[in-house]
Amino acid sequence: MSSALPLPPELERVLFTRPQLRRRVARLGRRITVDYAGKNLVLVTVLRGGAFFLTELALAIDLPLTVDFLAISGFPGATVQPRVVQVLKDLEEDLVGKDVLLVEDVVDTGLTLAYILRLLRARRPASLEVCTLLDKNARRIVDIPLRYVGFQVPDVFVVGYGLDYRQRFRNLPFIGVLREETLADPSRA
Ligand code: 5GP
Repeated sequence: MSSALPLPPELERVLFTRPQLRRRVARLGRRITVDYAGKNLVLVTVLRGGAFFLTELALAIDLPLTVDFLAISGFPGATVQPRVVQVLKDLEEDLVGKDVLLVEDVVDTGLTLAYILRLLRARRPASLEVCTLLDKNARRIVDIPLRYVGFQVPDVFVVGYGLDYRQRFRNLPFIGVLREETLADPSRA
């Protein structure tokens, strides 16, 4: 992590430092620049967490592109799987014929992503792929092809770089692991 920043007490350790994130995102941007040359690229992400990764990724892609945002929520009261999601804010762009790259912060069980992909596929894009910063593969329930992956992560709860715990920690410039005690006792966060 940036050595100027002390680790908040709710966090156990840093998983990816700011320079590691910057380098990885730059490399993803270079690959996407090659793969999407001549295409009609739209980056779509899910608010709020994904906006941080999308911003840095878009800056690393040397192509004309547009960006669009979705907001979803867990269905009120749904605390057990399968999670039901509601669209809180829909996309503004028409996706017909566009090359859509769904930009995600983390894919965990894959249930949310599966829902969003179904939603986007119904808009008839020319192509639809996924770019996730973090892949928590061990917990996957739905098998979804991830075209671009920043990092594999173990089965821990991570925060920072857009990822929150009860809306906190999104602005940490690194990705860190939340202490299990904090997860077990939310009054500590
Ligand atoms: P999935 O439907 O794949 O299980 O869950 C994906 C969503 O759960 C992510 O978009 C994110 O909102 C949340 N999530 C899953 N794992 C983590 C994590 O380690 N940290 C944070 N902050 N959110 C997570």
